[in-house]
Amino acid sequence: MAPRSSSPGPRILGLDVGATKVSAAIVDAEGHILSHGGRTLHRNEGPDEVIGHLFEVARRLLRGEPPPAAIGVGVAGQVDAASGVVRHAPNLQWRDLPLGVRLSREFDCPVVVTNDVRAATVGEWRHGAGVGATNLLCILIGTGIGGCAVVDGRFLEGAANACGEVGHSVLVSGGRPCHCPARGCLEAYVGGWAIADRAQERVRSDPSAGVALRLRAGSIGAIDAKTVGDAARARDPLAEELMRETSEYLASGVAGLVNAFNPGLVLLGGGVIEGWPELVEAVAARVRTDCQPPAAEAVRVSRVALGGNAILIGAAALAGDRLTTPLPSRPRGERPRRARRRGR
Ligand SMILES: [Zn+2]
Repeated sequence: MAPRSSSPGPRILGLDVGATKVSAAIVDAEGHILSHGGRTLHRNEGPDEVIGHLFEVARRLLRGEPPPAAIGVGVAGQVDAASGVVRHAPNLQWRDLPLGVRLSREFDCPVVVTNDVRAATVGEWRHGAGVGATNLLCILIGTGIGGCAVVDGRFLEGAANACGEVGHSVLVSGGRPCHCPARGCLEAYVGGWAIADRAQERVRSDPSAGVALRLRAGSIGAIDAKTVGDAARARDPLAEELMRETSEYLASGVAGLVNAFNPGLVLLGGGVIEGWPELVEAVAARVRTDCQPPAAEAVRVSRVALGGNAILIGAAALAGDRLTTPLPSRPRGERPRRARRRGR
């Protein structure tokens, strides 16, 4: 299964810490996965248990292999890139967890910790559907929505390293409640959890129209985004209507982002896109008709190429960068001192 690598560069360990599973891969300098492993997480496991699983998956993969030159890890949460601390990972219930330090102590090599969507975007940009793009917008629509932008060949990070929360741009003022403090966000209509909520509400308010969805899921509370996609595929009228609405919301949201960022390429991925790939063409059509002409003419809308491996490959690529450029933009632990020295 594992391809032999002819790349002479270092072997990097890529890690992916998601809400439901941890994965690891040994990745070469050209973004090829040489070996791969993982395990699912149980609900309500604490940080130490999850990190224990992560170490175990990594150790199993490294057995009989030379130690990795570096480790790159993508986490579903907000990360302080300079310190390697995971500030907040709501789905893992982590707060201020020094993941970088714990990994580098355990495996004795440099570690780069980054947000998972950012890792996936880097993976697609360096080794996937975004190769060669200098202006790229990558939007991943799974349970939640995350995004990242490359502008003029530079990866945007933002003042607090939190650039790209495109799921929380407001689409409907005062609209549906979101998981963030706002209402009416793109995610509150198109995120997997929101598609499920919208479907369940409709079935409750019109039980006869919702019979097919309820029977397919077993109960109203079990209807999720996949149920809706599958039912729409089977031509259930309510599910088709829900997917039409989802398509409208997503297309409007992305068209606004195309006007704002003027990308040459928009990549769409994540579970919702995998389940309903027609959304990509719907977005492309809306961009052509609704965006400002220069932006509309410059952009292509496409699907991601690396799927579930993008986080592992991108996190490894970022760790590989650290080997050649040890302290890229925010030196670990040195930023405040330097800032003071430079200031007045
Ligand atoms: Zn929101």
